Amino acid sequence: MSTFEIDDDAHSATPLVQELKSARADELGDMAVDLLREFIRIPSVNDPERLSSEARQTKPWEAGREAEAAAWIVARLCVEGIEAEALEAAPGRVNVVARLYGRGRGQAVTLLSHSDVVPATRSTWSYDPFGGEVHDGYIYGRGALDLKGLCVVQMLTLIQLRRARIPLERDVVLLVVADEETGGRFGAEWILAQRPDLLDSDVVLGEGAYSVSGFLPNGEIVHAIAVGEKGYLELELLVEASGGHGSIPAPDNAPRRLVAALDRILSMGLPLRLTPVTRALLRRLAGGAPGLHGRLLASPALLRWFGSGVIKRSALLNAMVCDTLAATVLEAGDAHNALPAQARAVLSIRVMPESNVDALEARINGIARRFGVHTRRVMQKAANRSPLESAAIATIERVLAEGQDGAVVVPLLSPAASDCRFFRARGIPSFGWIPFVIPSSDLNRVHGADERVSIAALKQGVVDHCAVVSQLATSAQVNGGKA
Ligand SMILES: [Zn+2]
Repeated sequence: MSTFEIDDDAHSATPLVQELKSARADELGDMAVDLLREFIRIPSVNDPERLSSEARQTKPWEAGREAEAAAWIVARLCVEGIEAEALEAAPGRVNVVARLYGRGRGQAVTLLSHSDVVPATRSTWSYDPFGGEVHDGYIYGRGALDLKGLCVVQMLTLIQLRRARIPLERDVVLLVVADEETGGRFGAEWILAQRPDLLDSDVVLGEGAYSVSGFLPNGEIVHAIAVGEKGYLELELLVEASGGHGSIPAPDNAPRRLVAALDRILSMGLPLRLTPVTRALLRRLAGGAPGLHGRLLASPALLRWFGSGVIKRSALLNAMVCDTLAATVLEAGDAHNALPAQARAVLSIRVMPESNVDALEARINGIARRFGVHTRRVMQKAANRSPLESAAIATIERVLAEGQDGAVVVPLLSPAASDCRFFRARGIPSFGWIPFVIPSSDLNRVHGADERVSIAALKQGVVDHCAVVSQLATSAQVNGGKA
């Protein structure tokens, strides 16, 4: 019998929340640390680059392997009496579904995470990326932030709800998918096609935004909740010219034309998008930014006229409120003394839901044409957004406000894509909320070296996440109103 169990006649979420505030929360937190370290040691890397180009065509599933991770999750839940299914999309590509049953007063609260991680180059890390080592109060390892940390928090939420035997008004579903990092073909996309019952959900909590410290001048913590994602457009720019010797460059040589076109394109002014989401974001951030900075952020009119400099100085803030353009690939030449006959670039373009992608693309094409550069659309993903008015957001705000002074909850559009988009595309409100606080400088560690999460933040995150989910799951209403 678990030491976590409370009286069987508990009839509301309150005992659970009380429980979470007690010494038992420490036990739950210790369990989170142990589980995350174990999970990091399972190298569930998803890396198409490790396949030959032939294998990428014929056996693309070999890029990743989440089978061991899935078996580990199923085993950990099974110990707690929670049945979990392992669903294999392709050899080695395994997804996990577990469900706690409620009274069916509403559709499920779905907790969404993924078990695959991007590769890690050992030489760029201070510690073994798959060692789950603890140093100076931090757990280091690939996936600590993206996304094994959240997965562990969601597993423990299920475990704690089960242990406390809280009568649920609605089901709580845990969905840990494979293949998030390369598009979801063997993960979210596959499982939602196989199991349409997983779409019977009133709200999805997944990834998309972090809670950060060190971002606001007054030191307040920003708890970001992703209510949607920017759209993605990838363009290839290609220019061909006659080559020749490097000592006699033709004025219209390929690299020069590409660089000139890129310079114009990358310095295009992209306007601030003042939408309900970005207005709410800026208004909330304004409270934590004193003086002129704060007044600018608080006033859309002032900001529109004078504030673009303030926005552009912060790459992070800029990405949240503007379309962005970046050249991610530049290629030309392979000999030091010869002019290349071809130069190529790839533009990675992220657009707000309100932006006109076709008009932006036409503008870029127009500039490129002037320099004799051809453009080609490589990939496009539409932006997506859930309503701001949601009991899920209200519940997160309430739980965080109870726990901490000076916490600011802000809605934002995630600059990057996540599996939440599959649910939003079907009209299911989905929110990216990773409940542990990280220094804003640690955002660079996501997909980078020395990815880590602090033990204190992870422990607090488990408590907050459990409290939010228990309140949502014991409420008959989770959308369009207060829980
Ligand atoms: Zn992720």
